[in-house]
Amino acid sequence: MVNLKGSAKPLRASVTTLGCRLNQAESQIIKEKLEVAGYAMVPFGEDADLGIINTCTVTREADAKCRKMIRQFVRRNPQAFTAVIGCYSQMGAKAIASIPGVDLIIGNQDKLSVVDYARLGKNEKPVIVRDRIDRKDFSIQFVGDLPFDKRANLKIQDGCDFLCSFCIIPFARGRARVRQWENTLDEARAAVAKGVRELVLTGVNIGTYLHEGHDIVDLVDALNDIPGLLRVRISSIEPTTVPWALIDRMGDREHVLLPYLHLPLQSGCDKVLQAMRRRYTTGEYADFVQRAVKQVPDLCVGTDILVGFNGETEADFEETCRFFNDLRFAYTHVFPYSEREGTLSVKRANDVVPIEERNRRCLQLRRYSSQKRYDFMQRYLGQEMNVLLEDPRDDRFPGYTANYIRVLTENPQSSDIRNQLVRVRLDRISADFVEGPIVSFVGG
Ligand code: SF4
Repeated sequence: MVNLKGSAKPLRASVTTLGCRLNQAESQIIKEKLEVAGYAMVPFGEDADLGIINTCTVTREADAKCRKMIRQFVRRNPQAFTAVIGCYSQMGAKAIASIPGVDLIIGNQDKLSVVDYARLGKNEKPVIVRDRIDRKDFSIQFVGDLPFDKRANLKIQDGCDFLCSFCIIPFARGRARVRQWENTLDEARAAVAKGVRELVLTGVNIGTYLHEGHDIVDLVDALNDIPGLLRVRISSIEPTTVPWALIDRMGDREHVLLPYLHLPLQSGCDKVLQAMRRRYTTGEYADFVQRAVKQVPDLCVGTDILVGFNGETEADFEETCRFFNDLRFAYTHVFPYSEREGTLSVKRANDVVPIEERNRRCLQLRRYSSQKRYDFMQRYLGQEMNVLLEDPRDDRFPGYTANYIRVLTENPQSSDIRNQLVRVRLDRISADFVEGPIVSFVGG
């Protein structure tokens, strides 16, 4: 580890993150450790002495994007120490090691210790640290006193035991394990103490959270008791792991848990769900969502859909489109199926759907999703809703409503209103935003 304390010119470090919210949460922790170690953080793409690329391997395209970012950094900073960490390092260390200029490759077990491995100057050849991923529950040494984002990701869980046939994550991130209860709450309290008003709970399969008898409902209730915390959002949760008590909390306006449910569906066709080894039928999924939106009228239900999976016929795809359009979704993220070495679906690959057809189905479903998102925003035109304001862009303040509508508003006064909870009247839709004036200040 480089001791920079008191060195004349601090070394510059840049961190770039690909992939999911969990990766973003981990990169934030690494950035904080770098700053404590005395590095000056610079945006990726600027000159740096240390570059960290936090990778994703969920699709072939993700791997290619990681390689591109690595080459880009090395080209810009040939003398810098280049560290590649995370999921692609866990699954594709050999491919990464073949890229000239890489000094260090760290898998998911030790990625948060990358700062300890960093040093001045280049390695002859890449050092690879890819230990077996622990199954033990974990705690995270967080720093806690550095600049903050208004909405902070809080990592509460990692890994997955569900083994869906298309998914590489259990291999890249290991078996399911949770963050220790007290350590999780300590970071939450520290985040609120420095001004965070919304926490986004993140992990791989967070609905399976259970530590010393405390489950996800206990966790959101404990967060509800932290003075100054206004909002808690669950990033994504598996359909078969949502206790109804969570829906009760989402419907309770006095509770910090927001009416937002990102519930990965993957397919709207039972034949395909079975081949994916998903744990529910379309009927069970639809029944759950219909009951949830009945109980929580403002609930935002979002999802993920994978198209072009082995054996998915045109008729199966149409069934998925009908299912998506019929249910009260606000949007879907759409992914073309991507073969991942080591997954069951690759071992049993048959009836492979051509790539062009996968991409055509993706575009089709993304069009339906844009319409759904528009319809969802339109439902709230003319209404006043609470919005947590983020950093301004061109003198205008973006932020989210509780049910994940992206809002853009103006500052009616000269004081700094970032991180304030304000009431906005939703007047008009423009692109992905709803615009409108602030009608009152709720508090920060
Ligand atoms: S639940 Fe399935 S899709 Fe999600 S991470 Fe686990 S194996 Fe992958």
